[in-house]
Amino acid sequence: VSIETPSRRAFLAASMALLAPRRARAATVRRIALQPLGASLPEAQRELVLRALRTFYDLEVVELPVAPLPRSAYYAPRRRYRAEKLLEFLAERLPSGSQRILGLTAVDISTSKPPHEDWGVLGLATLDGAACVISSFRCRRRARSARHTAERFAKTAVHEIGHTLGLEHCPTRGCLMEDAGGKMETTDREHLLCEASLRELERRGHAPRRDVTPPWPKP
Ligand SMILES: [Zn+2]
Ligand SMILES: [Zn+2]
Repeated sequence: VSIETPSRRAFLAASMALLAPRRARAATVRRIALQPLGASLPEAQRELVLRALRTFYDLEVVELPVAPLPRSAYYAPRRRYRAEKLLEFLAERLPSGSQRILGLTAVDISTSKPPHEDWGVLGLATLDGAACVISSFRCRRRARSARHTAERFAKTAVHEIGHTLGLEHCPTRGCLMEDAGGKMETTDREHLLCEASLRELERRGHAPRRDVTPPWPKP
């Protein structure tokens, strides 16, 4: 949901776009690998993430066997895991043939968000990066049902993968690329990718699906 140093990365991405032919950049993303981290993630949540990504993106999505959470990412003072360390771990595990890897976990994850040294997040990605990670920990808060938790989790997956495909936060209310700002209410009002976000994906050479029926109700 929050991205690492967005302004700098956005600038880097913009300069790269000027240097590299657009078509060459576009051809690269074909497959997303899902990497469950830790054993405690309900199957229904993994399945909904898979379905949501296949609904919104014209990309192959494959599921990897569960991997244990890396100790290198554990943050003892708050007993949770640092998201940027998880991104490093995930990027190293990118399988050949996959260009993006999405880590899925039930444990709380956090990152630095000035002035906060350790700030809990729903997910983390870098703009145009290979890896992103999402956590269902905050999705469970005041959820109406297990299904509601899974829907929030799957919306976060579409959001973070959007960042890795170059999408920044979107001001359109209800767009899946809206900045949740750590609030579950924002995620709850999200439904689709707005026209501006779809056009931006297309401009970047990705092929989002249009006129989709998302696996969650219209708010
Ligand atoms: Zn975000
Ligand atoms: Zn949008």
